[in-house]
Amino acid sequence: MPIYIDLDKCDQNPDCPAASYCVPMALQFDKEKNRLVYDPAKCKNCGTCVVHCGPVALYQYNDEEELKLLKEELERMKTTT
Ligand code: SF4
Repeated sequence: MPIYIDLDKCDQNPDCPAASYCVPMALQFDKEKNRLVYDPAKCKNCGTCVVHCGPVALYQYNDEEELKLLKEELERMKTTT
């Protein structure tokens, strides 16, 4: 299951704890872009990063339909809070 990063919720921590748990380094803080970046080709779908994301900005999804629903739900939560 790939990872979706909600950049609005991500605290853009250069020492991101979630990324530090990613053994294949699929999740890394890009200093040039000044944000967390994700490489699905390296991801082992272990879900470890999701568990260690303090701001709850990382989500796993199964397919494009689930990603679409996830984005809609996150957007809905932003407009109701
Ligand atoms: S699911 Fe696992 S391998 Fe993939 S980005 Fe997260 S920690 Fe890294």
